[in-house]
Amino acid sequence: EPIIQFEHITKQYHMGEVVIDALRGVDFTINKGEFAIVAGPSGAGKSTVLNILGGMDTPTDGHLLVDGQDISRFDRKQLIAYRRKAIGFVFQFYNLVPNLTALENVELAVEICDHPFSPRKVLEQVGLEDRMQNFPAQLSGGQQQRVAIARALAKNPTLLLCDEPTGALDSGTGRAVLKLLQDTCRRTGMTVVLITHNLAIAPMGDRLIHIKNGVVERMETNPHPKTVD
Ligand code: ADP
Ligand code: ADP
Repeated sequence: EPIIQFEHITKQYHMGEVVIDALRGVDFTINKGEFAIVAGPSGAGKSTVLNILGGMDTPTDGHLLVDGQDISRFDRKQLIAYRRKAIGFVFQFYNLVPNLTALENVELAVEICDHPFSPRKVLEQVGLEDRMQNFPAQLSGGQQQRVAIARALAKNPTLLLCDEPTGALDSGTGRAVLKLLQDTCRRTGMTVVLITHNLAIAPMGDRLIHIKNGVVERMETNPHPKTVD
């Protein structure tokens, strides 16, 4: 059952006289509950795909259906509501509020949500039961990313969107974060979309979408995704 449908999405950025075709007709679908990986080299259009999916940018043309709704036709107000309710975002550099504790970071995020999960419970699920009262600077990179994942999950979003979530971590810590994301997807049935330039991550996904120069070069489903261990 498709939950994300990109239908011939284009995106142009205008920089003075120069027009940049970031996306040049992107088509793909992602099914509910999948761990989907969008891979490609730098400049391919991955961030543009994720930003459009997260309601942070709008396509120039084409349609984007999320859970049956045409996001590409949403106005500003509808997009704000969509970002609040439907989207959990995980960034490469965590983006935690530095003067709030781990628990307060998660609590702040769920204030604007209708049906959030308990911040404490979600922090326990990501293995941070002993770290709730710590500030971000008191946590390792891997722990900070776990807080950021808890913050996104606690919103109980339709989609969990991850932008190079392991990009700032060493390989062992990155693998643990990847395992947490894969396990979370399996456990909750949440749809996870992860963008990366790291092809080593590709075999972990249920679906792999390769983009290059603003088009989908290849899409494949993977019936036997590798389990991160
Ligand atoms: P990736 O995430 O795969 O590295 P991006 O989606 O960031 O690729 O970028 C795709 C193309 O669009 C690149 O050529 C990039 O320079 C351009 N681009 C992205 N964002 C902007 C922007 N805000 N203004 C102008 N050009 C942009
Ligand atoms: P991870 O594998 O999660 O990145 P590390 O091996 O980097 O963890 O860190 C191990 C322990 O050291 C953690 O319990 C963490 O709390 C602590 N630690 C790491 N970096 C810092 C820091 N900058 N300030 C305080 N404690 C830290």
